[in-house]
Amino acid sequence: MTDCLFCSIATGETAAARVLESPRTIAFRDISPQAPTHVLVIPKDHYPDLAALAGAGAGLLDEVAAQAHRVAVAAGVDGTGYRVIFNTGPQAGQTVQHVHAHVLGGRAMAWPPG
Ligand code: AMP
Ligand code: ZN
Repeated sequence: MTDCLFCSIATGETAAARVLESPRTIAFRDISPQAPTHVLVIPKDHYPDLAALAGAGAGLLDEVAAQAHRVAVAAGVDGTGYRVIFNTGPQAGQTVQHVHAHVLGGRAMAWPPG
């Protein structure tokens, strides 16, 4: 999709600190980290939100979730715990309309979130 920041990161047109890749996903460091580990996992193809990703079928949502876990393992936070968040819609604070899973870890996190 044109004019999509994360599509541009997926193609390599926009630089990002990539940490992992799978056939249909990439993972890269959030530019404004909210925890010692803060990585975003995205499908390379454009889906605006979680509902669209779930509707894609063919195991794509599974691949994103599996990559989120691999990110946590690679960062060494799978033992201490990590959080995976899909901000969806304006009240949840979704600012980039290309679905992304935030993987956060490396510190204790409050529940419920603010
Ligand atoms: P959300 O608010 O859930 O849509 O999350 C968007 C996230 O993308 C925020 O945490 C931003 O810090 C992050 N972000 C924005 N631009 C970039 C970029 N160029 N590289 C990496 N992360 C980015
Ligand atoms: Zn996109």
